[in-house]
Amino acid sequence: MDKSGVTRLSRREFLKAVGAGVVAASIGSVASSFAAGEGTRGAGNERSGENVYYVEFEIDAERDRERYEYYKSLGLLIERDGKICVANPLLPDRCMTYVKPYEEDRFELLPPGADEDFYAKCVRCGLCYYACLYEGYYAIRLVGVEGGLERVGTPIVPDVMHYPCTLCMKCTIVCPTGALREVKPKEVRMGVAMIDPDLCWAWNSGECYSCAKACPFGTEVFEFTFNEWGVHTRVRPEKCTGCGQCVSACPVNGSAIHVLPREEYERRAKNFKNTGMSYEEYLELILRTERENPEKATFRAMIVNSDYIINIRGIVSEKVVETLETENEES
Ligand code: SF4
Ligand code: SF4
Ligand code: SF4
Repeated sequence: MDKSGVTRLSRREFLKAVGAGVVAASIGSVASSFAAGEGTRGAGNERSGENVYYVEFEIDAERDRERYEYYKSLGLLIERDGKICVANPLLPDRCMTYVKPYEEDRFELLPPGADEDFYAKCVRCGLCYYACLYEGYYAIRLVGVEGGLERVGTPIVPDVMHYPCTLCMKCTIVCPTGALREVKPKEVRMGVAMIDPDLCWAWNSGECYSCAKACPFGTEVFEFTFNEWGVHTRVRPEKCTGCGQCVSACPVNGSAIHVLPREEYERRAKNFKNTGMSYEEYLELILRTERENPEKATFRAMIVNSDYIINIRGIVSEKVVETLETENEES
């Protein structure tokens, strides 16, 4: 128990407790009535006219009385548009928010080697599609008539969660027009992976290297900041290929790391989750709070976000990779 009265479990104890169906001590029995994937998942708080890619941590005071009383006792509830939500301890007048599950935040990416002149050069032959299929990856699909005249028959990579690109580069080799340019795997720029630090286990007291381990370029793409609130995994946007191999590796249901087209990444990075702060500023705010205000940092990571990640969104503890070292390096 620390001085704020919060029982602090190590990440291992925490995940073990969850795996055993025991609710984290600091949350009490509140969470046990929530199955993974229920609760605030889904929209319901999307404001018209905005491309809102996150959900707020709403609480239904009637249906979820215990959780409501719990957060009320902590002074962490705020009311917005007639709804009650858990406040972000770092931005107390704002609801805590989480990126939607990948299925609701999925983008159609262009295959490796596609440049600005891709649509002018692609003759819709489908050879890239067959090459990918033949290799057994099925990452590429062809746009149907619903895609409109300009795009029909062109290749896309629509679902990197289930069919990531392995960067085998066969599609670029078979492309007869150079619409998919032959580039080195490292030079591929299909999109950029973005981690939601409020949903990522590694930013909320955990040690998780699952995405970095799945990434073909590992620490060339990923970097870390270590302290007692986690390993704070980051993607270097300029190095990321957008292959999506990290997405399904994430143990958080719906994944805390999503691949976005570069323009969408930049849009989000400029004003992250409508906080008025850039993505980098938001990450720095978390790290600064951890250095300067440990109590607030504990509320954010160990109480609010751990409750949401574990008890509402759900986390598959078996998928958490706790080291970057390989078995050979360990022995
Ligand atoms: S590089 Fe390989 S896996 Fe990726 S889209 Fe092309 S053929 Fe498919
Ligand atoms: S961070 Fe993800 S999308 Fe980017 S190169 Fe690594 S595995 Fe691919
Ligand atoms: S795999 Fe998911 S939880 Fe783990 S560090 Fe990456 S984004 Fe965070």
